[in-house]
Amino acid sequence: MATTPLPRIAVSACLLGEPVRYDGQVKTCAEVRDGLARLAELIPLCPETGAGMPVPREPVDLHGKASSPRMIGGVSGEDWTMRVQSWIDAALDRCAAVGVSGFVLKARSPSCGVGTAALYPTPGATPLRADGLLAAAIRRRFPHLPLVEDEGLDVEAFVLLARAAVAGRD
Ligand code: SF4
Repeated sequence: MATTPLPRIAVSACLLGEPVRYDGQVKTCAEVRDGLARLAELIPLCPETGAGMPVPREPVDLHGKASSPRMIGGVSGEDWTMRVQSWIDAALDRCAAVGVSGFVLKARSPSCGVGTAALYPTPGATPLRADGLLAAAIRRRFPHLPLVEDEGLDVEAFVLLARAAVAGRD
């Protein structure tokens, strides 16, 4: 009897325990590394190290308009926006090519947060909540695919959603 192939799910690399976080710490998400990995083929993405940021590194923040935020180094003021966006565009091309059917990203990150990244509309202002650069790009490019954060992840429900999102397109 033919078996159904596992869906391909792209995940924030740090959720798998990869040492890519700004502070050099490892923060594995067991639901992703162990639970989701049983039900899907996982594709790790890390926009910050992908764009050339070292580990450890200064934290970056989002500034400006929600529709076109800039990613700026919190100490140096270095503008990473173009390099990170360019890496994201290429990574999402690869995701499309291999038929990714959903995304699980790290909460509160300026790259990966799904509506939970801090966005500073003006210097020193109280931050708003916004999508990180990767989450925003996924929403634009794959509006039909499930996009969630690690916190509160229901692995089985998510995989069902991912399978349903691509059903009938194969
Ligand atoms: S949250 Fe995203 S950008 Fe930050 S370390 Fe994890 S994968 Fe990389």
